[in-house]
Amino acid sequence: MFVDIAKIHLKAGKGGDGAVSFHREKYVAAGGPDGGDGGKGGDIVFKADSNLSTLADFRYKRKYSALPGDNGGTSRRTGKSAEDLVICVPVGTLVKDAETGRIIADISDEEPVVIAKGGNGGWGNQHFATSTRQIPRFAKSGAPGEELDVTLELKLLADVGLIGFPNVGKSTLVSVVSQAKPKIANYHFTTLTPVLGVVSMGEGTSFVMADIPGLIEGAGEGVGLGHEFLRHVERCRMLLHVLDISGSEGRDPIDDFEKINKELAVFSDELKDRPQIVVGNKCDLTSEEEVQRIKTHFEDMGYKFFPIMAAIAEGTEELINHIAARLAKLPPIKKFEAEAKPEVVAPKTLRTFTVNERGGVYYVEDCDWLMEVMNNVDPDDYESLQYFERVIRECGIIDALEKAGINEGDTVNILDIEFDFVN
Ligand code: GDP
Ligand code: MG
Repeated sequence: MFVDIAKIHLKAGKGGDGAVSFHREKYVAAGGPDGGDGGKGGDIVFKADSNLSTLADFRYKRKYSALPGDNGGTSRRTGKSAEDLVICVPVGTLVKDAETGRIIADISDEEPVVIAKGGNGGWGNQHFATSTRQIPRFAKSGAPGEELDVTLELKLLADVGLIGFPNVGKSTLVSVVSQAKPKIANYHFTTLTPVLGVVSMGEGTSFVMADIPGLIEGAGEGVGLGHEFLRHVERCRMLLHVLDISGSEGRDPIDDFEKINKELAVFSDELKDRPQIVVGNKCDLTSEEEVQRIKTHFEDMGYKFFPIMAAIAEGTEELINHIAARLAKLPPIKKFEAEAKPEVVAPKTLRTFTVNERGGVYYVEDCDWLMEVMNNVDPDDYESLQYFERVIRECGIIDALEKAGINEGDTVNILDIEFDFVN
């Protein structure tokens, strides 16, 4: 079965814990703190693989987790960071946040994308030596890895999308202009999975044509087969609308055309306005006059019209040449932009905390919202520390500490991280 949508759970690796350790050497009575930092937890990374064509694997395995980082060791030894977990998906897979529908990434080129970040390793106590507290017993545990549900949605990457009623000859057309061999048969819905055919034009140029399952009336509203397949032509640069102009199944080709276009419009305005070429197939089953009448009809509407006999590849070369020329003037295949992640730091009104002095140490407490910020502070990075300082100044922590009577050089403890107060 063809699967082009899936929902999976991702859990990136937790950071390793920082170590509490003290330097020991013969004849040295009390060594300094030398606990190393934990290693980073593994990221979950998505990568496009052109050998894959469905999301079927994700129906069976739905939970993915990356490994945690190793804990820090003695003698400032940093724990080993975990390897990333790489998940391969078909080219053209959209990764969305299952909860909000936000597009996180469009996996459609070589570039691997980190979807769930592993937690940073916790600091070892080597960082917590302060002038007042020479023997820091604190070390920080590693930050948790990001955890989220994502929906994967396959939106094929093709230049040209074939649309039309079932049995009009779409698969036949792909099979005569490319190496692709979709199933062809004289009954409806033989094409159940989209097929991509590469049409080579010689001189190294080529384009990709997508044969998708036939659309039927009401597909745009989700009735019957078809709606779900429209997303595969969503990023095609142009559409090839195939009609059975002989009306061999008792329908009127012009009526077919209107109905399918109505479905496109229901699906999206963008798709409705996508450039379209009309192909009249099965010319062998109708009269010359009828072909001419239909051709004139579409040309009057402003469409390019090509009469063909797909079964014997009659008229297809002219069609292909026209498509190639037209594609050269059209914008490239659409890439979906990642949508911005909402602000992680709590809004200012929710940034509450308390300051309590115990034994000369000023504890900043009841501030869970700061956890995210603290987890991402890198003690060895100047900019990161500046950011941290800006956050605690903006939310009033510095003012509150001063009000509580703190002096230069006193120890501050925020969520188990200690440092000297310097203002
Ligand atoms: P699809 O459902 O649109 O993909 O249609 P298919 O390509 O599977 O073709 C449906 C039927 O139409 C098959 O039996 C084909 O052999 C037949 N067919 C395709 N092209 C032509 C043509 O040019 N002339 C005639 N008479 N039959 C054709
Ligand atoms: Mg078909």
